[in-house]
Amino acid sequence: MKPLVIPIFISHQGCPHRCIFCDQYTITGHTEAEEQPVTPEEVKKIIEQWLRRPRKVKKQRVQVAFYGGSFTGLPLQRQQELLESVQPYVGKGEVDCLRISTRPDYVDDTIISLLKEYSVGIVELGVQSLHQDVLTASFRGHTARQSEDALRLLKTSGFVVGAQLMCGLPGDNYARLMTTVRKTVELGPDFVRIYPALVIQGSGLEKIYREGKYKPLSLARAVAISCRMKTIFDEHNIRVVRMGLQPSRELAEKVVAGPYHPAFGELVMARNLFQKTKKILHEKRNMPLKQLHIAAADESVFRGPDNISMRQLTALGLLENIEVIFDKDQARHTVLVC
Ligand code: SF4
Repeated sequence: MKPLVIPIFISHQGCPHRCIFCDQYTITGHTEAEEQPVTPEEVKKIIEQWLRRPRKVKKQRVQVAFYGGSFTGLPLQRQQELLESVQPYVGKGEVDCLRISTRPDYVDDTIISLLKEYSVGIVELGVQSLHQDVLTASFRGHTARQSEDALRLLKTSGFVVGAQLMCGLPGDNYARLMTTVRKTVELGPDFVRIYPALVIQGSGLEKIYREGKYKPLSLARAVAISCRMKTIFDEHNIRVVRMGLQPSRELAEKVVAGPYHPAFGELVMARNLFQKTKKILHEKRNMPLKQLHIAAADESVFRGPDNISMRQLTALGLLENIEVIFDKDQARHTVLVC
């Protein structure tokens, strides 16, 4: 069961500079003027508002998440104040754990002890790439080695660790991206998020895009690459919890170029499911198959726009005499033939 995540936005706070692709105000739908640093009192108010909302599931786990900046780059006292403000709810059992996102170069033993002391259970690292040239071209300001060290340190310290990865960054290419994916698998985060780089108005990427020094991925290419990444992570039991930025009107209005789609994750899932199905049907094409089972919840993802996946499988002769069943008892994202 998915936990209830109470988001507290600290857009760009704690960041030493703006990375070339990033604009947290647009991503979170807040303007820079609106975004005054949240106070501990406001944190409490936000938590209480969320806790008062009716919930469908009674025993849902609750997490408070500090998103949108580099939490551990904040002055130590501010980190303590914010973490402290959540503790009464942890004490009462109303919040199960805290989660933060941060940069790899802002993780060390002091930070680890602080996070542990305040019940932080999940840390998401903005890894983006594990190729040094890509990090340099994206003005990340830290090394690939620092990301690897931070991931290892967080894992060995017992945190649930997430890695945010990007495709289509300046200086990146398919081979470099696959190196990043392979290294990430070796480092073994508990989950990953995959974001295709978008050219957002006002970002550094917009500047080099307009100067003709950066070419974003097409939507089709970004979907294909993300699908490959997801397939590899699936094979290694690393959960992919999100693909593509959260869609919003603000984001749609501010994307100058790049593979933006409000249902980017669904497009990737459709491709992923299509490829899985094609592979299974192809491998078993000499067997007398009668039924193909897909989870009922995946029906629209599986069919794709205009039923394209079904039409392609039929055109390939892979659905001959096979009944497709959208099965409500089947696990999502799985394919079964019998
Ligand atoms: S990518 Fe992370 S570190 Fe860079 S500006 Fe955005 S929030 Fe800050």
